[in-house]
Amino acid sequence: MTEHEYQNFVEKENAVIDGIDVSGIWNRMWEPRELTGFDFTYLDKVTSLPGGASMRACYQCAECVGACPVDNVGSYGPRKLFQRLQRGMDLFNHPDLWLCTTCNNCLRVCPKGVDMMQVMPAAREQAILDGNVPAELQEMLQNVAEYGNPMGESARRRTRWTKGVEYPVRDLSKDPGEVDVLWYVSDYFSYHSRGNDAARAMVRVFNHLGVDFGILGRGERCDGDSQRLCGEAGLFEELVEHNHALFEQNPHQTLVVSDPHAYNALKNHYPELTGVEYPVQHYTQFLAGRIAQLNGLLTGEFARKVTFHDPCYLGRHNGEYEAPRNLIETVPGVELIEMFRCKQQGYCCGGGGGGMWLDGLTADHTSERLSENRVREAVEVGAEVLAVCCPYEVSRFEDAVKSTGNEDVLEVLDIIEIIDMCIG
Ligand code: SF4
Ligand code: SF4
Repeated sequence: MTEHEYQNFVEKENAVIDGIDVSGIWNRMWEPRELTGFDFTYLDKVTSLPGGASMRACYQCAECVGACPVDNVGSYGPRKLFQRLQRGMDLFNHPDLWLCTTCNNCLRVCPKGVDMMQVMPAAREQAILDGNVPAELQEMLQNVAEYGNPMGESARRRTRWTKGVEYPVRDLSKDPGEVDVLWYVSDYFSYHSRGNDAARAMVRVFNHLGVDFGILGRGERCDGDSQRLCGEAGLFEELVEHNHALFEQNPHQTLVVSDPHAYNALKNHYPELTGVEYPVQHYTQFLAGRIAQLNGLLTGEFARKVTFHDPCYLGRHNGEYEAPRNLIETVPGVELIEMFRCKQQGYCCGGGGGGMWLDGLTADHTSERLSENRVREAVEVGAEVLAVCCPYEVSRFEDAVKSTGNEDVLEVLDIIEIIDMCIG
C-alpha cells in the first residue's frame, strides 16, 4: 500500500461507544479506495459482450462459492472468476473459460444475478472467433458441423440400434407423415452402446403402452444446446433450422425427447429462432403421465436401493424434479433414497456446457472428475443403483464407477431400463 493511500482515512481522536474506548485507530474508516495497477482490458471485454454484462455485478458476497460443483473439486466459480478478471486475467486465453458446466447452481443463489449461462457462451464465442478452442472441443464441434453428431458417425448409422429390437420402429425419414408421438432420440441414445440399450428399452415400453410413435431416423441431427453453450451460436442456428423443418414435415401431438439438453433447447431456445412453441416433454414426463397404465404392466420386482441423479438441464434449468422420482417409485420393490445434494441442489455430472468433451482439460484443473465425486456420494448413502435419465450420464457415471473402484457396489441404469426390466 502506498504512502498516499495510507492518508485516505478518517478517524476520531476520542470516541467511546457503549463504554468502550474506540479512540483513534480503533474507529478508523478508510475512504473508498480504487483498485490500482491492474489491467481491466479483459474484464471490460467480457462485460461489453452481449450477455456478458452481469459479470460486473458481482459484489463478492461468496454465496456461489459453496454452490459451484467445479470449485468443489478445484478452484473456480463466478466469485473467483470476477476476482481474476479484476486482476487482469485474459479469460479468452485461459482454461477457466472452459471449466464451467453451466449447471445453473451459482445463479440459483446469486443475489446479483451474475449469469454464467450467458456470460460463458458469450466469452466462448469470442474465443472461438479468435481461434482459441481446446483441441478436444474443436473436434466435437467439427463433427457436429460435418456429421450432425459429436461422435463423427455417419447419419446412415443413426438407426443401427433399431436392428434386433423385437418391435417395429417407424422411421419417418423413410415413411414420413403424421404420428402421435415424435420421439427425438438424440445422439447418445443413437450411437453410444449404453445409450442404445436405453433406446431399445424405450421402444419396448412405448409398444407395451400402445404409443403410436416415430423417429426422425437418419434425418435427425444433434439438438445443438451444448454447442450453443460452448459458444457456437451459428452452428446452433443451423441445427435448429434443420431439425425444425423435420418437426414441421411430420405432424405430431407430442414431441418426446430422451435428453434433458434437447428438452432445454426445444423448450427455451428453439422458439427464440423459429417462433414456434413445441409440444415437448422429456420422456420421464411423458411416462409419468401414464403411471396408471404403467402400474398394470409393471409385474416384475426391482428390490434394490436406488438413488436418482437430477440432470441439471431437467431439474435446475427446467424445474422438473418429480416426474423421474414418480416413475422410479412406481417400480415394485424399489427403495428410493436421496443423495445429500439433490433436486435444486443437485450436483452436476460434469457433462453440461461442453464438459462432456472436455475431460482432458478439466482433469488438469480439478482433483477428481465431477462424476467421480457424485459416484462416491451415491455409494456413501448406500445406493446399489444410480438411476439417471440423461444420455450423457450413463457413460460418464459408468466410467466413474470403474475409476473409483465401485464396480461391485454400484450399478448405473437409465430409468427407462429399470422400467423395461419390470414390464411383462
Ligand atoms: S453469488 Fe453472485 S454476487 Fe455473490 S460472489 Fe457469487 S457471483 Fe458474486
Ligand atoms: S454454472 Fe455451475 S459450474 Fe458454472 S460457475 Fe456456476 S456453479 Fe460453477
